Amino acid sequence: MVGRNEAKRMHKYIIMGAQGCGKGTQAKMLKAEFDLVHISVGDIFRWHIQSHTKLAARIKRLIAEGHLVHDDVVEDIVKQRLQEHDWNYGFILDGFPRNRTQAEFFLESYDIDAVIHIDVSDDVVFERVLARRLCSHCGLDYNLIHHRPAVADECDVCGGKLVARDDDNPDAVRSRLNDYRTKTEPILELFRRKELVIQADGSLSAAEIQQSIRAQLKLTGSQTV
Ligand SMILES: [Zn+2]
Repeated sequence: MVGRNEAKRMHKYIIMGAQGCGKGTQAKMLKAEFDLVHISVGDIFRWHIQSHTKLAARIKRLIAEGHLVHDDVVEDIVKQRLQEHDWNYGFILDGFPRNRTQAEFFLESYDIDAVIHIDVSDDVVFERVLARRLCSHCGLDYNLIHHRPAVADECDVCGGKLVARDDDNPDAVRSRLNDYRTKTEPILELFRRKELVIQADGSLSAAEIQQSIRAQLKLTGSQTV
């Protein structure tokens, strides 16, 4: 909810950062406060895989090998999602664009207000991503650093066994990080030229990152973080 005296304005953002930088958490915090739609391309991919769609087999193979999904597939997914127009107060796009081609496609087709860049070092990425676990039964997320289960390898809620995602192994993390540093990060330059980029330090706590983002975007929420 926004303050009573502030008319609701539209916010259209892209959030960028290497895996494990916490952009999903930041996007959810902004979504909750400003009624944005969180468009996570990774979540859309996972939905296709769980629903066994035609796209699923292609996506699954690429992700398991630590590769990026092809531009035309990703662009179609994003275009279709934005065409749903369920984002009355705006959106926050997560996991797109990932390279120059996708960024140019996006800039030609849509206006955005800002690109939120969360900066993290390679060491932090490895430490955080390799600590991720998922309940194999209910799907709840854990992290062996920040959100440990009470009993090792066991879900606090349902007792299910905790597992790492297939794509959270060191080789796949290294491959994704290499893709990110060489293909995704350079597109920030494109957005910087249009003065769209704000930057937050991803090694800080989630609340501190959120405060920094809101201050730089001049957002005033009703809740303090
Ligand atoms: Zn569970």
